[in-house]
Amino acid sequence: MRHLNFAPSAIREMSRLAAEYKATNLAQGLPDFPCPQELKEAAKAAIDDNINQYSYTWGDARFRAAIAKKTQHWRGLHYNPDTEITVTCGAAEALNAAMLSLVGAGDEVIIFEPYYENYLPNTSLAGATPVYVPLIAPDWHIDEAALKAAFNDKTKVLILNTPHNPTGKVFSKDELTMMATLCQQYNVVVIADEIYEHMTYDGAEHVSMASIEGMRERTVVLNALSKTYSVTGWRVGWAMAPEKLSEPLRRVHDFLTVCAPAPFQRAGIHALQLPDSYYHELNANYANKRQAAMDVLDSVNLPYATPQGAYYMLADISRYSDDDVKFAQQLVQEVGVAVVPGSGFFSGSAYGKQYGHKYVRVCYSKSPQTIATAKEKLQVLHQWKTLAGAAN
Ligand code: PMP
Repeated sequence: MRHLNFAPSAIREMSRLAAEYKATNLAQGLPDFPCPQELKEAAKAAIDDNINQYSYTWGDARFRAAIAKKTQHWRGLHYNPDTEITVTCGAAEALNAAMLSLVGAGDEVIIFEPYYENYLPNTSLAGATPVYVPLIAPDWHIDEAALKAAFNDKTKVLILNTPHNPTGKVFSKDELTMMATLCQQYNVVVIADEIYEHMTYDGAEHVSMASIEGMRERTVVLNALSKTYSVTGWRVGWAMAPEKLSEPLRRVHDFLTVCAPAPFQRAGIHALQLPDSYYHELNANYANKRQAAMDVLDSVNLPYATPQGAYYMLADISRYSDDDVKFAQQLVQEVGVAVVPGSGFFSGSAYGKQYGHKYVRVCYSKSPQTIATAKEKLQVLHQWKTLAGAAN
């Protein structure tokens, strides 16, 4: 039996507890509001049109063509849909397929910490070793010395997630360029998880790693329908990479899942053809949700770094507790609000051990009603004792 050196998902465990305690769920990164009506109609029409069997393994050809067109339009990057785009079961499968095709035993993978919790299992399942580089609070800037020290001859992959889950950081072009120089120097491939590309705030701009000079040839860009179109349950994502990286990724993908759900790929063509106004509206809606979520945290004096992108933030709970897991459990059981313990996003490194327990992750891909309910319930925190001993 394979030794699994990673824990069960803290995120999905909190969602389970949220259901058990009928809590307001600010834990798992899933929208609690409907996807656009035309996407529902397109999915139903695809089933009626008998798109019910396996799709082409690399993905429905029209869907891949639509991905190429949208990527060209938004990022100015050209990918050949026949050889460079592979459709997967969500970005989650794309991550596994990319990792399994790129690394093995003895290889090292650089991961910024805190990190989206899948990255450790993705690395471990491939047999490689994670090497963590701290993002430093309160603004989650890169520890540059640690980044430089992390690169060596064993480094094969750097995982970059921008906009970033769980901090809401959007990596700047300068930061990307600094990473790119090191990746080129050490012949490292970047897995660029850009699933939140359409959620950026306060003028922050999403820059794709593949658009940095010299990086398209050594970057696997991951994306999905999941977040941009509020359809996390459809399980449709994709990987874009030059042919030399796409070919092995496709071979792994074929034997992991054969193909992504065929009717939802067909509906995805409609999603990707939505006008620019759809994305502007999505972004404006998320900016409002972000403001509402920040108001919730302000109202109970929980500090956070203002997120520049994605739909999460890490709230600093250290005035109440030095144990994020206990705090999150108490919150779900006694207050009826689910969040994710911060330690789920930090490793067992010295840095992770020192800081992981200081935070909980709050997700705001929620309806205004859900966020308002959470705010109301959380006011009870004012009666909780702080670590200094006094009630708020
Ligand atoms: N990457 C990141 C950074 C995510 O936050 C998520 C979902 N929470 C995924 C990948 C997985 O996406 P999908 O649902 O498309 O598999």
